[in-house]
Amino acid sequence: MNQTLVKRILKCSWVLPICAEPKRHAALLLEGEKIAAVIDAEQSKLSDDASNPSVHDYGDAVICPGLINLHTHLDYSLLPSFEIGKGLLPWTKALMQTVVNWGASDWLTSALQGARKAAGYGTSFLVDSSYSGSAAHALAEVGLKGLIGLELFGIDEGRAENIWSTWLAKYQSLITSGNAKLDEALQCGRVEITVSPHAPYTVCPALWQLANKWAAENDRLVLTHLAESQQECRWFVSNDQEMTDHLRFAFGSFRGAQPFDEDILSWKQSGCSPVEHLDRHQLLNANLLSAHAVAVNDDDLAKLGSQGVSVAHCPRSNARLRNGYAPLEKMRTTGLKLGLGTDSLASCEDLDMLAEARFAVALNQAVNPDSTYGPRQALEQITIEAARCLRKENEIGSLAPGKRADLAIFQIDDRRQTKGASEQIDPYELLVGGHCRLRELLIDGISRHSNGHDQLG
Ligand SMILES: [Zn+2]
Repeated sequence: MNQTLVKRILKCSWVLPICAEPKRHAALLLEGEKIAAVIDAEQSKLSDDASNPSVHDYGDAVICPGLINLHTHLDYSLLPSFEIGKGLLPWTKALMQTVVNWGASDWLTSALQGARKAAGYGTSFLVDSSYSGSAAHALAEVGLKGLIGLELFGIDEGRAENIWSTWLAKYQSLITSGNAKLDEALQCGRVEITVSPHAPYTVCPALWQLANKWAAENDRLVLTHLAESQQECRWFVSNDQEMTDHLRFAFGSFRGAQPFDEDILSWKQSGCSPVEHLDRHQLLNANLLSAHAVAVNDDDLAKLGSQGVSVAHCPRSNARLRNGYAPLEKMRTTGLKLGLGTDSLASCEDLDMLAEARFAVALNQAVNPDSTYGPRQALEQITIEAARCLRKENEIGSLAPGKRADLAIFQIDDRRQTKGASEQIDPYELLVGGHCRLRELLIDGISRHSNGHDQLG
């Protein structure tokens, strides 16, 4: 039988379509890799007939779209909460010194561990900036979907073409690795590879422009870190000696290179913010997905909004690395395309997108007590809003006929069982409030992680 024609019904106490109201005692009809329909309890009872599709009843559970993490680095999964008390630049330096002797198998072990953990929290799609490229292999191995940005660094405008050629060779080597699982994931589009200029202070404009041109020609998004710290902002506006010294380390002594002449940083101290810097060099556009956006003013937000730039809000990493608080409420009212990201396990305690959403809601409530941003809005950000950032809202991010069957099925905790409970239960709060644990993750209808004993028929 053609596998794509297999029909199944998944029943549970709550279905959260995201783009429609939650349905209680409902079910999903799957047809192969896709969702065929969201049906109510009465219809799903009819399907108990043997001539109808196979039925799996998850009981007191919530089915929602697979979660989307818009910013992480699976590469660093073996370094849990790595020296985060130090602040961003000392932390980065310590991280570089720790991984400098890692070989290919270390990177892969680390990325695989992260991918498995992400799957265990119901994440079906990850956006990952990867220094080693191992994240692509890890996603392919675990069966997750994702966009991997191979990282790009280079501060010398005079060497931009050479550095870009080296990146292209690294990209070619990754997409022709010969690994059967990665080949298949790339071919069917489950995993895509793009470019990730690390940040405005580590990538000079000429090099970034080459990356932008390639991304536009190949219809890819560009991933970056943008305005992650006030220090980055200070460095662009006037100067910040610690930042310059960090660049001396990262691009000089650490790589065994000669100390560079500060004149090559001709593009710094431009008297403007990092966002304005990118704008002046025509580097802001709808292809850009930028993580953090902490050190941004109202003009910056207006520019990001008008240019269609997406933002991955990473509140826990921003807090843990002492970078501050990104203006979530202003970003929302500006109409930015916005999702959430955990960042890596080196700066965040887990890869749990529901925990990230919970923190985002709590932090925003503390800063903006009158905000309407709550569990529902946060869950939208880690599903359909994130899908919009990825231009994949027609494929993933909500439960609707024709969409891919990427589903996270969460068992409701015993103490919050909803059977016989009053109608006031808010299923968004059940999820974002931390009252559920993952039962099963399906991607394109295939089980990729299960904590239950009974598998789908
Ligand atoms: Zn990051």
